[in-house]
Amino acid sequence: MSASGADSSGTPLPGPGPVDPAGAAAVLRAAREVLVVGHVRPDADAAGSAIAIATALRRTGVAATVSFGGPDPVPAALGTLDPDGLVVPSSRAPVAPELLVSCDVSSAQRLGDLADRLDTAGGSLAIDHHASFSGFATRHLVDPAAPATVLLVRAVLAELGAELDAVLARALFAGLYTDTGGFRWGGSGALRLGAELVDAGADPRALMRELTGTRPFGWLAAQAAVLAGARREPAAAGGAGLVWAAVDVPTATRFRDQTATVVGQLLATAGDGVAALLTESEPHQWSVSLRGNGSPDLSRVASALGGGGHAAAAGFERAGTRDELLALLRSELDAATT
Ligand code: AMP
Ligand code: MN
Ligand code: MN
Repeated sequence: MSASGADSSGTPLPGPGPVDPAGAAAVLRAAREVLVVGHVRPDADAAGSAIAIATALRRTGVAATVSFGGPDPVPAALGTLDPDGLVVPSSRAPVAPELLVSCDVSSAQRLGDLADRLDTAGGSLAIDHHASFSGFATRHLVDPAAPATVLLVRAVLAELGAELDAVLARALFAGLYTDTGGFRWGGSGALRLGAELVDAGADPRALMRELTGTRPFGWLAAQAAVLAGARREPAAAGGAGLVWAAVDVPTATRFRDQTATVVGQLLATAGDGVAALLTESEPHQWSVSLRGNGSPDLSRVASALGGGGHAAAAGFERAGTRDELLALLRSELDAATT
């Protein structure tokens, strides 16, 4: 960033700590080389936010690159949000960027193998909507009331004077649609932004088909096996109930990009209770997705187990056997309901 502490228009830069969208735009305008990242195993909110910021910066002549901490490759379907090829593998991400911008990342750990950039970058800006945001960046635009990070990104793009075209609109719409559960929550603000993005060139049907609507045929049998193994525990979560299923290593490896929707299917059968999908990504290494109805607060449950998230959608990663993880989960769910 410029040594004068001002952006190219002479606007003074905000100091370290919280910033508003205008402050975030001033930080972005002051940088000439930016690495924009989302959380590991990016969803559409993380990827769409990062690609939108980098796209807008590139148009103003800034060298902007997007990356996500490995080791996993970016889900193939997210490539549709990146027509200009801004995403590079973490092994090729700039080592000491002038500015690191993180989108939808609640803690340094969620940067994966790019967490070292917090030390090597000239400065950092976090744009996020997690209540569990840890404050890891130099400056942060964080609003837990925002239903998706893309809403905050939209406000920053407006401050930058970026014109919404189809590339930006598609990236933002993908994050908005997925993080609001298809506009189930997020209220009229989300719907208004959705309308603006459709007018700017996001075609919801085509976009969602590319992101989640096409699957390998073999997934049908694999999904049937996962769902057939689901178990219901009516006494769990203080009597609200738990429905869980597990994905084994071969299925997780072969169908890495397919499993995210399963937890929603479990939740549909959980009544007012909680759903959990336990995915064994490597032997004894688990990634757990939790979904509920807002109570108990799953962000509290996941945080207690080393993860984070929101009241109705949270997750954590942990080593152990399946039954060890289930025992921990039952105990934290009970703690959160008493
Ligand atoms: P997922 O089940 O992976 O779709 O994640 C649901 C929500 O929980 C998202 O808001 C994630 O950002 C958050 N989340 C998932 N895993 C973790 C984790 N290990 N640490 C912090 N937050 C997480
Ligand atoms: Mn996310
Ligand atoms: Mn999000």
